[in-house]
Formats: sequence, structure tokens, C-alpha cells
Amino acid sequence: MVLVRSRPRSFSVRYTLISTARVAARSRERSMKVLSWSGRCLVGAMALATCVSAAEATAPAADKLRVVCTTTMITDLVKTIAGDAADVRGIMRPGEDPHVYDVRPRDVQLVADAQLVVMNGLHLEATLGAVIKHNTPDATVVKLAETPEITPLASEQTKGAPDPHCWFNVQYFRIYAQRARDALIAADAANGDAYRDRAAIYIKQLDELDAWVRSEIASVPVERRVMVTSHDAFQYFGKAYQIDVYAVIGISTEQQAKPRDLVRLEAIVRERGVKALFVETSVSNTLNSLVKKVAARSGASIGGTLYSDSLGAPGTEAGTYLGMVRHNTRTIVKALR
Ligand SMILES: [Zn+2]
Repeated sequence: MVLVRSRPRSFSVRYTLISTARVAARSRERSMKVLSWSGRCLVGAMALATCVSAAEATAPAADKLRVVCTTTMITDLVKTIAGDAADVRGIMRPGEDPHVYDVRPRDVQLVADAQLVVMNGLHLEATLGAVIKHNTPDATVVKLAETPEITPLASEQTKGAPDPHCWFNVQYFRIYAQRARDALIAADAANGDAYRDRAAIYIKQLDELDAWVRSEIASVPVERRVMVTSHDAFQYFGKAYQIDVYAVIGISTEQQAKPRDLVRLEAIVRERGVKALFVETSVSNTLNSLVKKVAARSGASIGGTLYSDSLGAPGTEAGTYLGMVRHNTRTIVKALR
């Protein structure tokens, strides 16, 4: 079950419930959390807007384009390109995992009020994606990773499902930037020059970052370019910068590790002489503890903590996409070299 806006956009947005076969059982369970919360305020259908707490409800700017972004990487990107010209809100907070993100009531409100929604796509947003799909009849929804310019990698562990973690190839994130810029211009032509100028500066920074990552990785001897992570988020990084990447589980943290996964990984670590394994900030402690277990059993060490599906806290180095990639690259190079 998901919350769906039942009437055209108005100040008093109304919601009803619909069932959808596309939302998996787990997704339904999460959405029911939204519904049970709403149930305290709703009898049948009533205005959700009145249920949002004062702390969560900041009125959208009346005179600016209202943009809502899903992950922290995309929020950073769109805020950088939009500057003050648009009202850009991010849904996920630092450290939150998009694969298993629990939709909050205020997210539904934000999405329903948006004129432009910018997301990753390729099923990264899972439950939130379903909420966006059913609450944006009048808004433009842009899925940055879903474009012919990006060739999705397929995952064997998920029977060929596309890998959504395209942002770890900086050249692909450059395409994200171009698409976000074009979406902003299409939705708000009056500020087109501002979006174009800011995007040009940012794209230049991405090109410099891409060159820097290549030179850093090139300093690691080829035979040592093997890394192991918690979940399989770094295949685009590995393909772009020539590192073999293995993980405890596949491309979604919804998966559970099986004993045979750990045995397989231990064998790889021993055979390839892997020096260091990496834990991640946005996955569960349980999953990270499995990485530590594999490292201990196979005589390797933990090389550090990587930011995979979420940025770090604002104000820290990893609080921006540029800083996150620099942090990850330095951590990987230091451990492997
Ligand atoms: Zn992921």
C-alpha cells in the first residue's frame, strides 16, 4: 500500500490508499509505517499537510522552482548547480541507506509539493521510488542514471538487475550533472544562465577530480588493485579506474549474506593476496562485521571506511560528492599501496 494524492494539487492535498503489485512486500510494510503514522491524523482521507510537525515543515518558496532530490549525492549536485535560484530539498540524510530507506510522512509532503524531482533511478530508491511515482502527477521526475549515455552494469548475484551505483564513475556523475542542469533549465528557463554558469564550473571540477582519481590509482601496482567491500557498490569505480572489486553481498543491502558468500570471499582474498578490506558508512553494522570476519579469517586487515550510498555529515570532507570521492580514493590507495 502506498500513499497516493487523490486530488489535483491544492493547498489542502488529499491522500488515499492504493495497492500496487509493483511494490514488494517489504516496501508495503514500510509504507504502512507511513500509513499508521498518518492514521493518527487521518480518518479515511484528510489533509496530510496538517500532520507535518512544525520542525519538519518549512514552507516551500513561493517564487522559486521547488526541487526535491532523493540521495545525499544528488542533493549536493543539484544544490551546487541551482545555488540560490531554486528551492532545493533533500530527502535522505547523511548515513541513510537508499536501498532500505524508510519513507517519512514529511517526504510524501515534499514530493507532492515538488515541481521537479531528481532521483538516481535503476531501482536504487526502492520504496521511495514508489512514493515518488504515485505522488507526482504534475511534476517532472528525472532519473539521472537512466539515460542511453550510461551503460548499466549487470549483477550476477541479482540475476542481471542493473547496478544503480553509477556515481562512482566520475565521468558518469558528469552526465548526472549535465542532466540535472538541463532539467533545471527546462523547468525554470528564466534562471537558465545561472544554472548553465554554475554547472560549467562544477563540471570542470568533476573533470579535475576524474583525472586525480586516475593518477592516484595508477600509483598502486596493478597486481594489488583488488578490493573487497560490504555491499557491491563499487563496480563502476572498479571498471572506470581498473580495480577488481568483490563484496560480501550484491548491489542491494536488502540481500542477506549466506555462509557460502563468506567462504567464496575468503577464498578470493587468499588467492588474490588481498591486503585490505573496506567497511561502509551507510550499511548495517551486521554487514560490516561480516567484512571484519572475512578479513580476520583470511589474514587481511580492514583498510578503512568508505562512503558508498551516502555522503558524510555536512561540513566534513565527505559531506560533498567531490570530498567523498577524494576520501574514498585516498583510503583505497593508502590501504592497497
Ligand atoms: Zn548500494
